[in-house]
Formats: sequence, structure tokens, C-alpha cells
Amino acid sequence: MTIKLYNTLTRKKEDIKPFLDDSISMYVCGPTVYGHPHIGNARAAIVPDILYRLLKYKYRSVKYIRNITDVDDKIIEAAKKEGISIDQITLKYTKIYHENMASLGNLEPTHEPKVTDTISKIITTIEKIIRNGNAYVKDSHVLFDTGSFRNYGELSGKNLEEMLDGVRIDNASYKKSSKDFILWKPSDADSPGWQSPWGKGRPGWHIECTSMIKDILGDDTTLDIHGGGNDLIFPHHENEIAQGSCISEKKYCNHWFHNGIVLVDRKKMSKSLGNVILLDQLLKENDTATIRVALLSAHYRQPLNWTSRTLDNASKLAQKIRSSINTTTIPIENTETEITDILSDDLNTPQAFKYLSDLSKSSKNNLEDSTRLLFSCTFLGLDFSADYKRSQPNEVLVDKVEKLIKKRNELRNNGHYQEADEIRSELSSIGVVLKDKDGETEWELDPNS
Ligand SMILES: [Zn+2]
Repeated sequence: MTIKLYNTLTRKKEDIKPFLDDSISMYVCGPTVYGHPHIGNARAAIVPDILYRLLKYKYRSVKYIRNITDVDDKIIEAAKKEGISIDQITLKYTKIYHENMASLGNLEPTHEPKVTDTISKIITTIEKIIRNGNAYVKDSHVLFDTGSFRNYGELSGKNLEEMLDGVRIDNASYKKSSKDFILWKPSDADSPGWQSPWGKGRPGWHIECTSMIKDILGDDTTLDIHGGGNDLIFPHHENEIAQGSCISEKKYCNHWFHNGIVLVDRKKMSKSLGNVILLDQLLKENDTATIRVALLSAHYRQPLNWTSRTLDNASKLAQKIRSSINTTTIPIENTETEITDILSDDLNTPQAFKYLSDLSKSSKNNLEDSTRLLFSCTFLGLDFSADYKRSQPNEVLVDKVEKLIKKRNELRNNGHYQEADEIRSELSSIGVVLKDKDGETEWELDPNS
């Protein structure tokens, strides 16, 4: 199985080829924790979650890093508004973010660095960039000198005029060029700050991500996959490449992976339009499977246009799958890989749902299809196990189990204990627990399987 993924840097679908032999690394820009997560944050987490599941299936070792940005001007503002400290606000919204992501059925990343825990690495990274001649210090600020980096603009494919168009231009006096961006800036008494060679201050946003990646992987390792929403391509990811390329001979990142925006009735979500859909509310009104199907219903590179029909359609599919699984399925470890093949083609989730829909029809009378359906749903993080546990063992399963128990008892009576034990293991693998008592064998479904 080869995983193909569109690479924003080369503008084509490419095979994933890890820097190391059998382990792979992925970094995704995480939340800035100052408010309740909305469906845009959910999409930016659920798309990498599907890729993470696929990477885990293929590679022995996967590092999935998603950071928490807990220093930011927006956090300072929000803390003032809520009348609480910066620590309180970041802890509060980190906790809510974690709860929301778990309720969405997302797996936890393997690493979750916080900016406030990475300050010393950020400072040494900035020092290295200055030493290499790619940054300068002016009026207690440290600025990246974009003129010193030849490939600036490579990711976004923009020329200077386009870059400056639409981005808030800060022609501050301490900048040599308006394209130069902040690596470190001074903090006043009211703002969080750390001692540094350039005075008390705090990092710029872009250097945070680069430093967190290097802190975990090492300066001279290439990150395999970097993800985030496509609104981060410029300037955030463009600036990350510039920084990362100036501290090591090794390429900063091989594969850039971006998800599209979420629109509500074809409009951008904004507080002023009052159309922001918060996850807390959505999770109260819908089950996890429905929300996951809805968030993954459009291909990740396309915009997801959220309308009343998005949830209706998702709910119908979830219902269809649920009714198929309830009546027929037994939990067998499946080695079939249709679902992994479908997802390996640039995370084709619309095709995956078509496959699930077809399987739901055929699985009613076909145990193998039913098993494939359960495997595929589990792979996508669609958890119907609660429904499954409520269901009773079906006739096909009962017949199979009784036959195997009979065979096992015959083997035991004839002294073939090893083969008898193999049957016990086989039954255990499909979630059947045996209890031998007074010469009789009783069985039950393992409630934890
Ligand atoms: Zn980032």
C-alpha cells in the first residue's frame, strides 16, 4: 500500500516517502486557545486524524505532533475581556479543546507541545538564525530578513506584490523590508514575557511552530508531513520554511498538506455574521458518527459548505450503517484493505462513504461484508460499538461458536490440547470468551471487545 497525498509545495499528488526507513512524522498547526472551538477547527483536526490512522496502519512508528499555541495577542485580549489571567484562559480553552476533540472521536496526537514549554528552544533557534545571517536585531525586536532567503514564496507560489496584497502590511520602523517578519518582540509589563538576549519579550507566531518541530525531531531531520488549514499557507507556512531552511542543511519538510475552508451556507464563518457553529452545541444535538461523516463528506482539499442538508445526509448514512451493523456483525479482525486503498488515494473520503453505503446494503445478508463494514467504520473512527454491544449474538455466530466448541471438546478428550487451545484463541479473536465448568463449556461475548 502506497499513500498518495497532494503536496502543496509541488502542486501534485505524490507518494509519501518518509525521511527515516520505517517511521514517519507529521506536524499539524494546533489551536490558539482563547475561545470555543468551531467546525472550522474540527475540520482542521479530523482531516489529519484520518491521515494519522492511515499512517499508523502502514508504519511501525508514527510521530503525530499537534501544538497548543498558548501565547498570542488574541489570548491577551480575550483574557482581559473575560477578566481572568492568561494561564486561566489558556488552561480553560485547552481543556475544552481536548474534550471536544475526544467527543469527535479523534485520536490523541503522540506529541502536544505548548509554546510556553518551548521558549528556551525558540530562543536558541532564533540565535542560530541570527548567527547564520538570516535575521537582525532592531529596537528590541528580532526580524527575519526575507531578502536573505532565495526561495521565499516557493510554497505559496506568490510574487512579492501578491504576497503583500491582502496581508496586513506592517511598515514598522524597525523593519528593513515590509516582508520581514517578527521572530521576537518586546513585552510590556502587562504582557507575558521571558528574558532573552534581546530583553524581556515573547516569540512571533511562525518561529513557535518551527521550534516545536525541531525540539522534537532535532534540527537536522526533515519533517515528513506538515498540515494545517489552507489559510495558513501564506504567510505562516511560507515563513516556517524560511526559518527552518536557515538552521539546517536538511530540507525543512517534504510534504505540505492543507485542508480547505468550512463555509456556512456559502458564507465565511464570522462573529459579525453570527454564523459561527460551535462544537459544544453541535455535539449536544448530534451523535459523533453523524458529525464525523458530515465533516468528512467533502474531499478535504475542497471547501466544505455546511448547510442543513449536510447533517441530514450524514445522519441518514450513519443510520443506514448502524442498522446493518446491529443485526449481523461479529467483530472479526479484518485484513481486507478496500477502505485503506480508497483513503490512500489522497484521503478520498467521499469515495469511502460511497463504499460504506454499498456495504450497508450487501451486509444485511452477507457476514463477510458486514465484517468489512465494521472494520471500515472503525478505521474511519465511526464508533458504532455501543450499538453493537447492545445487540444479541446472531444465529450465524451462535452456530459457528457451538460447532467450534464441540470440535474443541473432542480434541481435548483425545489429548490434542495444543489444537484445542488454538480453537480457544480463534474464538477469542472474534470476541468469544469460554468458561469450562464441571465438564461443560459455557461461552459469552466479551463485553470489552
Ligand atoms: Zn503553525
